[in-house]
Amino acid sequence: MKAIINAHYIGVLEHKEDEVLLFDTQIISWCKESELPINTLLIDAKGAYVSAGFIELHIHGSANADVMDATLEALQTISSSLLQTGTTSFLPTTMTMSNVSITKALQNIKLHKKSVSGAKILGVHLEGPFINTLKHGAQDKAYIQLPNKALIEDFMHEVKMITLAPEIEGAKAFIEYLAKNHSHIVLSIGHSDASYDKSMESFSWGISHATHLFNAMNTYHHREPGIVGAVFDSDITCDVIADLVHTHPSTLGLVQSMKKEKLILITDAMRAGCMKCGSYDLGGREVYVEGAKATLLDGTLAGSVLKLNDALKNMVQHTDMTREEAVYAVTKAPAQKLGLKKGQLKVGYDADIVIFDEDFSIISTIVAGEVKYRAS
Ligand SMILES: [Zn+2]
Repeated sequence: MKAIINAHYIGVLEHKEDEVLLFDTQIISWCKESELPINTLLIDAKGAYVSAGFIELHIHGSANADVMDATLEALQTISSSLLQTGTTSFLPTTMTMSNVSITKALQNIKLHKKSVSGAKILGVHLEGPFINTLKHGAQDKAYIQLPNKALIEDFMHEVKMITLAPEIEGAKAFIEYLAKNHSHIVLSIGHSDASYDKSMESFSWGISHATHLFNAMNTYHHREPGIVGAVFDSDITCDVIADLVHTHPSTLGLVQSMKKEKLILITDAMRAGCMKCGSYDLGGREVYVEGAKATLLDGTLAGSVLKLNDALKNMVQHTDMTREEAVYAVTKAPAQKLGLKKGQLKVGYDADIVIFDEDFSIISTIVAGEVKYRAS
């Protein structure tokens, strides 16, 4: 058993000031330091912040590996490199590519999801291919297709989230079928040109989330508020890429004030995440990375190089979001969305824990009770 002492706990309601966190692979209890069982291994947080590990719902790659590489090595590289960002579990995210490529990526995850030794794989997020050609963003238009079950039938346990456009042909029946028969799959509006009314309608079919709000969708207009207006007027959850490139700080502040605890932070990072500037591949397309920006050759934004802990830092620095709210947006909010016993330092929950400083720089990352990363 292990316990964390001298910690400033975040996002914990039911513990007293003088109690410490005791855990094994799961959280065992909150107790006084003097009451810890003998042989408890003490981890000294030295006054730093401690919260549940961060959960990432949308990530294509990191450290020069991509989910679409469809190898165990790629998943392992991503899983290990995410530890330095405080991420303890994630949804590897596929791109809109050929059926052969997507199937390979899905098979790879199905086969190896338990084999990675860093951040845990929670399942798959399918970004496309059931999206609108008008809002393809960095997804390859040539591979966009109409919604169909055939592509995912063999992977219903792995698929945990699908980003799709509800206005395209066949989407209504597809959404209603999944919402009824596979309710564990989060259906998210994105890469879509849906109107306000169509968006609202799709929420009643089973859409319960919006992917990288503002990006790859129509803009808010006072006579046609579109997807953004519908998201603001409903209680569905949504996520944003808080890299200050995909979304202006003022817009981040707006979405924070409108959505509160319904807001989740993601990175949408591609293989250049945690890498240097240069040229990389994303879904078969060349992407150039300079500073915080990743673009296709025509200038279209293409994924990000954001680290999840920096998303929290950006939100706290540039909006009214508090440290507690930022942590909530990458712990409890995504965990509840996926129905997981994670995201909270609560008895019986997985002991996924992160220790970080004032600036959200990661000091230590613990996955299922094991210290997997320590800043050097
Ligand atoms: Zn993406």
